[in-house]
Amino acid sequence: MKRDQEYIVKVEQAIAKKYGEEAIQNPKKYWDDQKEKDYLAQLKKVQEKSDRRKQKSKKVKEGDILVDERLLKKSVERQCPVCSIYSFSSRDDLYINKFSCCRECYMEFVEFREDRWDSGWRPSKDEIAQRRLKKDNNGRSGEEVR
Ligand SMILES: [Zn+2]
Repeated sequence: MKRDQEYIVKVEQAIAKKYGEEAIQNPKKYWDDQKEKDYLAQLKKVQEKSDRRKQKSKKVKEGDILVDERLLKKSVERQCPVCSIYSFSSRDDLYINKFSCCRECYMEFVEFREDRWDSGWRPSKDEIAQRRLKKDNNGRSGEEVR
């Protein structure tokens, strides 16, 4: 057994000579020391990078609160807040973003009366029902094609 141990020591010395002291140290111990420091430094770098990215994002005023612009873009309003009709037309996006109603509602309730709309006036349920009926009657729904 003693010869075996001597052999191991000799092998270790040979390895140390060839690859440096680190190679024969307990890998776990080696990891704890330098590798972990490197690892933590890398983590910190990644964290700093993501922090910087967060700071770069543009904040947009939405009512009284600041909202991340990217958040707004992700969740485009698809439903008209006035008549509750869903639209996937980019043309309606424009009206919904600007006037909080779809294009049909804009033409019915907002156009030429934007001041009244801006002051917060909204059509009654009956008026909205009439608007939807009107749309059905003159076949405007055909315009929903993108
Ligand atoms: Zn609408």
